[in-house]
Amino acid sequence: MAVTERLYYNDSHLIEFEARVVDVTERVSGWTAVVLDRTAFYPTGGGQPSDTGTLNGARVVECIDDGERGVLHVVQGLAPARDAIVAGRVDWLRRLDHMQQHTGQHILSQAFVKLFNAPTKSFRVLEATCEIDVELSNPTTEVIERGVELANNVVWEDRVITIHNVSSEEAAAMPLRKEPARDGELRLIEIEGFDLTPCGGTHAYRTGEVGMIAMRSWERAKGLTRIEFVAGVRALADYRKANRTARDVAALFSTGRDDTPQHATQLVEENKELHRRVRALEEVAAGVEAERLWASAVVQPGGTRIVSHVFDFRDAEFLKKIAHALSTNPQTIALLAARDKDAARLIFARSADAPGDMNALMREACALLDGRGGGKPELAQGGGKNVARLREAIENAAQSLARLDSKQPRLDTTQGAS
Ligand SMILES: [Zn+2]
Repeated sequence: MAVTERLYYNDSHLIEFEARVVDVTERVSGWTAVVLDRTAFYPTGGGQPSDTGTLNGARVVECIDDGERGVLHVVQGLAPARDAIVAGRVDWLRRLDHMQQHTGQHILSQAFVKLFNAPTKSFRVLEATCEIDVELSNPTTEVIERGVELANNVVWEDRVITIHNVSSEEAAAMPLRKEPARDGELRLIEIEGFDLTPCGGTHAYRTGEVGMIAMRSWERAKGLTRIEFVAGVRALADYRKANRTARDVAALFSTGRDDTPQHATQLVEENKELHRRVRALEEVAAGVEAERLWASAVVQPGGTRIVSHVFDFRDAEFLKKIAHALSTNPQTIALLAARDKDAARLIFARSADAPGDMNALMREACALLDGRGGGKPELAQGGGKNVARLREAIENAAQSLARLDSKQPRLDTTQGAS
């Protein structure tokens, strides 16, 4: 039975090693799983992603913990043969990054226990950030920053981190931060005078190696507080990104980086004011436009005035204003639309004394435009994506209304002329 000796248990900084190949299996085409008698590669587990690296120069893209069978090294390219002695090399920067995040998590989790008696329920190293879910009852940014501050103090005190292998009986008498997930011999990670917890991951030699820990954001999630954080190299990368963003924004305002909130606030206020003024002007414009459209509309023999028009690049609010202004005239129906290149909006409205069911007409029109719409007999709205058929949709509605108009009772002009 192949059980891989896990070199990373004893030395998290060991990245070069020699081992013998004990098993080779084809996984999928071009990918092979190699089992070694010993390895420095950490396989995916415990919230920490797998190491990557090389075996005799061939790329190790992932390592998988296969329990009794040992650690599977998924190799891309030419895999070594069974019984071969291979030289393994772990990608150090990736290992360092994972150690910083993982050790940072031990420290941060214990900081929340010490300050708020709030245990960590789960932990994940993601692509660019990390997450812990903490049982923190009243989270605020200030509360979380207190935890982060204590954690950073522990980082900068550069405390020694020691590994202890103990029996579960011995562990039972120790003040562990969390219950061990398995029986038998346990591996405990001790951060001098601060934290003691069972863990199978890779950790820094001393807390100083973590560099620093920064909170990016937090949110309530499923009764817990989810804290997004970055440590070490990730904290620096995140700082550079945040700084670049802040400086880019500052350049838009021609101001210093730290003065942008005040400039942005001012801009938002000005924008609101402009919006109000545009709306007021649109009100006036809509009135003028409505009058022009009404005057130029054809009056049907029955006396109904059908106003139809397609606008370019106007919003629904503007259409509504014009429709409203038009439908205050007697015997008037407004069939209005606005389009841009991707979509059309429609509004059909009529005065109380005009014929026609706007709801029914709108449904027909929207069906033609591959969209949806509806409303009441006097007023209906809708839209669709098939802008090419917009004219047709409006014309169909106008023709239906013209037919209705011919059925309206007419003023008898022959009366008294017999
Ligand atoms: Zn750990």
